[in-house]
Amino acid sequence: MQTQSRRSELFPDATDAEWRDWRWQLRHGVRSLEELQRFIPLTEDERRGCEETKNIFRLGISPYYLSLIDPQHPFCPVRMQSIPVRAEAETHSGELRDPLGEDHHRPVRAIVHKYPDRVLLLALDHCSVYCRHCTRRRITSGDEGGISREELQEAIAYLRQHTEVRDVLISGGDPFLLSTARLIELLEALRELKHIEMIRIGTRIPVCLPMRVDDELAKALRRFAPLFVVTHFNHAKEITPDAREACERLVDHGVPVENQAVLMRRLNSSVTAIKDLMQKCLTMRVRPYYLHQMDVAEGLEHLRTPLAAGVEILDGLRGWTTGMAVPHLAVDLPGGGGKVTLQPEYAIARQGRETIFRNYRGEKYAYPEPRETDCTVPYDEVFYTKYNEQPRPRLRILT
Ligand SMILES: *Cc1c(COP(=O)(O)O)cnc(C)c1O
Ligand code: SF4
Repeated sequence: MQTQSRRSELFPDATDAEWRDWRWQLRHGVRSLEELQRFIPLTEDERRGCEETKNIFRLGISPYYLSLIDPQHPFCPVRMQSIPVRAEAETHSGELRDPLGEDHHRPVRAIVHKYPDRVLLLALDHCSVYCRHCTRRRITSGDEGGISREELQEAIAYLRQHTEVRDVLISGGDPFLLSTARLIELLEALRELKHIEMIRIGTRIPVCLPMRVDDELAKALRRFAPLFVVTHFNHAKEITPDAREACERLVDHGVPVENQAVLMRRLNSSVTAIKDLMQKCLTMRVRPYYLHQMDVAEGLEHLRTPLAAGVEILDGLRGWTTGMAVPHLAVDLPGGGGKVTLQPEYAIARQGRETIFRNYRGEKYAYPEPRETDCTVPYDEVFYTKYNEQPRPRLRILT
């Protein structure tokens, strides 16, 4: 493949064994403008982008991810995700350093507890590639400082007290940059808490450093089932034979893999790009989960799409391709409101007991409501003792 030849152009001295060694990849990551210029002919915008963002956010690209960059095209999606441009140094009013208001929900330093039954656990502040669109850069920039072993113990102690938490999403930073032994230690501590029903690990390793996913890691993860890996492919160009091998290795070992993509203006903001990405994910048995609207974060205005663009894209997927290839379009509300989802409007009118829909082709169909509307489940009272429904604000639907 093209990757192979770019690899030998960029790193002619690397042996196969070195290239496949994730620690070699980390040691040889590109971290400065000077190094980067030796590998890729940069545009003026990128060169100045590197200079102007130098004190704002880390530059870091693994040799593997670097080998996927199209050296000719400034709009190469891999390039746009890893090489800064000047716009990244600009901030606009309303943009936030902590766009999701997470710092108001951090009872201890390594935990974000925003939703009733699940938490985010920040395991470390390092990544294999520093994504230009990272909205958790207040942490991944290193400005906050790393997360210590004691702080992780403090997080476990918090979870021990909070028995309402049944789902822990481990993120960071990239948890797969922990040594397998450290990761196992953390997972074992979580598994000792009987109320934790499931674990998710958010990681970009299958995309940016797929050689990290070896048999040892995959086997280790299997022990902690139900454990889901949630990865972050944003463009079909990232779905290489190496990335495929990493994802398939996880799935073959019994670890389900989901994908969260971020919608980015002029990088993947077309029906063509998103449809291809989602379909190719499924060919690796990776299930599309969220498509994220870009957060209102400092320096990312140039990558934000209008809300309508994401809805248009979903409209181009639903019905036109496999339902499993259609992600949820999520907007994480600025200031800490949490995630909500958007979708195209299919119910277009109500006529008496009938709702009028337009389908994916724009044709109209009516759906009649049933006569009986009582939806309480009598057996709930018999079957459930533990779960009570939370009081919620009344849902408003089309009238
Ligand atoms: C996204 C997120 C989660 C997980 O949300 P799901 O909708 O369950 O995937 C949990 N905590 C925080 C703080 C989040 O941002
Ligand atoms: S891998 Fe995730 S946390 Fe790390 S820089 Fe990329 S988006 Fe940010």
